[in-house]
Amino acid sequence: MSMKINADEFDALVGEVQKHLGFLQAVGCEGAHLNPESLRIVRSWENPFPASLAQVFDEYLQCRRCRLASEGEASVFGAGSENAALMFVGFAPRREDEGRRHPYTGKEGALLTRIIEAMAMARDTVYICHAVKCLPPGGVPPGKREAKACRYYLLRQIQAIRPSVICVLGEAAAGTLLGESMPFARIRGRFIDYEGIPVMPTYDPSHVLTDPSARRPVWEDMQKIMKKLDGSG
Ligand code: SF4
Repeated sequence: MSMKINADEFDALVGEVQKHLGFLQAVGCEGAHLNPESLRIVRSWENPFPASLAQVFDEYLQCRRCRLASEGEASVFGAGSENAALMFVGFAPRREDEGRRHPYTGKEGALLTRIIEAMAMARDTVYICHAVKCLPPGGVPPGKREAKACRYYLLRQIQAIRPSVICVLGEAAAGTLLGESMPFARIRGRFIDYEGIPVMPTYDPSHVLTDPSARRPVWEDMQKIMKKLDGSG
């Protein structure tokens, strides 16, 4: 569904852009470097005071950023500790998650809980969420448009929690957070920086359940995360 604005709103928008460009010219700005460091600084201006998780949750409850606000079958914000050192990010909720209002329920969730416990942590000490909070009708995976719209909440959750390490589960989750176009096989198992936070892409538990040969690489990735968390990796 495309967003429509009327002529008055468009004129107001153009006026705001003109005012802003005029301001930048008045303070001597002659251009902008768009290298990653400059973009990081500019993005940090947007939210000089990161919202609390509760504030992000309140925003999410009123979300109209994409068609799934009215068409979505399930919606799950995330769960866990606001002080988590480790954050897991999957791609999208499943139907069974909706009833419990928790990410990663069912068999996939049980496996994720076992993985977390094998890392000598309790599930409620980490934070778990999805990159896209709502599931499209028919239970099909969300598309790029929904992922782009919903990335806002993921970034706000990361800002609120500021984990020491993020583990992205599966190719779609990794692509949504990192914007990586490299094949997942090449980025899996390697830390990638996101705004100063090391991000480990690994397989989603659903993949491990269908392909047991993925267990070993996932455990190796978790060991790297444990080392990163205790400062030895
Ligand atoms: S998927 Fe995300 S952006 Fe779209 S309606 Fe749900 S919460 Fe909002």
